[in-house]
Amino acid sequence: MQKSRKPEILYLKGVGPKRAEAFKKLGLQFVNDLFSVYPRDYLINTSIRNLPNHHDKNVIICGKIIDKMMPRRPNHPTRIAIFDGTASVESLIWGNTFYRERQFKVGDKYLFWAKVSINPYDRRTQLDIRDHKKFEDTDEELLKFPLIPIYILSSELKKTWVKPLTLTKIIFNAVRNHSQLINEVLAEDIVKSNNLLEHKQAVLRTHYPRREEDIEFARQTLAFEELFFLQLVMALRRKSIESEEKGISFQNKGDKLEKLFNELLGFELTSAQKRVIKEIYSDMKSLKPMNRLLQGDVGSGKTIVAVFCMLIAIENFYQCAFMCPTEILAEQHYKTLKQYFDALNIKSVILVGGQKKKLRDEILSEIKNGTAQVVVGTHALIQETVEFKNLGFVVIDEQHKFGVMQRAKLRAKGFNPDVLVMTATPIPRTLSLTVYGDLDVSVIDELPKNRKPVKTALRFEEDRLKVYGFIRDEIKKGRQAYIVYPIIDESEKMDLKSAVEHYDILRKNVFNDLRVGLVHGRLFWYEIDDAIEAFKNKKLDILVTTTVIEVGIDIPNASIMLIEEAQRFGLSQLHQLRGRVGRGAEQSYCILMAEKLGDVSKERLDVIAETTDGFKIAETDMKLRGPGEFFGTRQSGELKFSAADLSKDMILIEKARNSAFKLVEEDPQLRKTENQNIREHFLINYRDSMSLIKVA
Ligand code: ADP
Ligand code: MG
Repeated sequence: MQKSRKPEILYLKGVGPKRAEAFKKLGLQFVNDLFSVYPRDYLINTSIRNLPNHHDKNVIICGKIIDKMMPRRPNHPTRIAIFDGTASVESLIWGNTFYRERQFKVGDKYLFWAKVSINPYDRRTQLDIRDHKKFEDTDEELLKFPLIPIYILSSELKKTWVKPLTLTKIIFNAVRNHSQLINEVLAEDIVKSNNLLEHKQAVLRTHYPRREEDIEFARQTLAFEELFFLQLVMALRRKSIESEEKGISFQNKGDKLEKLFNELLGFELTSAQKRVIKEIYSDMKSLKPMNRLLQGDVGSGKTIVAVFCMLIAIENFYQCAFMCPTEILAEQHYKTLKQYFDALNIKSVILVGGQKKKLRDEILSEIKNGTAQVVVGTHALIQETVEFKNLGFVVIDEQHKFGVMQRAKLRAKGFNPDVLVMTATPIPRTLSLTVYGDLDVSVIDELPKNRKPVKTALRFEEDRLKVYGFIRDEIKKGRQAYIVYPIIDESEKMDLKSAVEHYDILRKNVFNDLRVGLVHGRLFWYEIDDAIEAFKNKKLDILVTTTVIEVGIDIPNASIMLIEEAQRFGLSQLHQLRGRVGRGAEQSYCILMAEKLGDVSKERLDVIAETTDGFKIAETDMKLRGPGEFFGTRQSGELKFSAADLSKDMILIEKARNSAFKLVEEDPQLRKTENQNIREHFLINYRDSMSLIKVA
């Protein structure tokens, strides 16, 4: 086959079997694979005379060592003087002294990667050397370029003594000598209509930019390509769901909806709620299986929307499943839902881990024989032992806590049921399009009218007594308060310590006249649930807690939240926590207690204090922490981009998405001749993600 004739990295100059093995572990086997390694940064290629123009920058210098001074102490740097024909400069080399000293020979010529700095004593320009490489004649070629890429080195490569400049050279040679292997990956009209470079041009300019503008222009093309193929996966997946066997068309309307809205709800739906209900309902009526994401900020009233949908399914004689990420949430939701369903004569059950066998068996048989019309639960719902009679509608709450596979498993319990996934974690649009790009999206972008925005303030240790006084005053008025401690380190039970210790102090010394309760993650869920129930029923004034209350708890009379060590929390997490207050008509307060803050922490907490707009907060969070952090480690692997940058490439994502969806509309099998590049590139690089996605 043609493929086996692709040249391997193994045969490149300077590689050899050991290094080739290391490259292979990184997924780089063929020379082509090196083309798509994206530079981490670029070094300015300059002369020593020009160094003062590049303070604080990373540069590449080619010169001879003309002097060398050994360090006087082991932890001092080696000093060398470098001369390149234009001037000389003193340079520092930190690190293994003995090794350095022997390695550098006066009179020899080297390439140096260095950072330009200023000697604090005599104010002269100097270099901090990061890496060096003996000069070879072939380096002349490399030095013709004004900017030299430098790549991220993995520990695999370090083990085989590949150093940064060596890697630069390996990739440089690969691109230079094998550029005939760079094939176009897109179709011509996509390249043209999106104003991109040809793939080959983009690769060449990325690895050998002739001027600074080349880099960004080329990056945009490569980023577009990455995003395009990701969206292509989404588009193909969407197509395959659509062309699957038919789903369920929920036609009956029944009289329960009327009853819900006219008799049971104590409020009028917001217009955003009405709109999303319409969107969902039209999906449910159609035969196409629904896959919809419902986004709505905390407190925007998603639960009632879910109740609406479940009622429709029930009126059509189907069962519903409602899956939550934690047992506490399942229990809380179950109570809310049960109130509605009991009043409507609908049987609901809860299935979670840790239930007694007898009870569990009973519940399982009710699910199987169809008596249980609504099943609320945790991932206990997706275990093999759970069999539904006719599951027709699935709600997944706090979707970002579940993986794609779990979503798929629950869906497989029915026969193409409609699926509604709900999230209160506002996701920046860039992310939702890349992670949930296969779902339709409905957004509740309005809070119920009776809400007053939560007043948020940043306070420090010296304000503590005042803060306690304030809390006491509010409680006297009949309100309740949460006091939240961070989970410092899950493995070391530190959260327990800090919450428990402070609970004792608060209960005995600070608020000894008030009723103080405690919940934390190491209690059994029903203990947590008891405490939350007591708080809900106003048997407690203050609930001391860790982040176990982060999602879903709904207690409108609790109007104060004090968050300790607020600087330790992520922004989105703070937003979620704050969402526990401001759920009733009273003015609510969120007090962020922090230690002395650095600039970044200050900027972060200021965002929280200034806005209650979850989307704005999420965007900032992503900018400050990056998409990987934002999603937690498990999902970050799916977001491995090299050229694309989710925090700034919104426009590119939209363009890539439009092009990909249009393509799949016109040529679902990618059979047309003009799409052969795309097909080939897709099959080589994305087949795996496709099969992963097929099961979902
Ligand atoms: P979330 O979107 O965070 O899940 P919930 O569904 O828990 O929000 O709703 C928060 C609170 O607001 C609940 O007490 C709910 O009964 C109430 N609620 C929902 N919709 C409205 C509305 N349109 N008007 C007033 N209160 C509402
Ligand atoms: Mg909710």
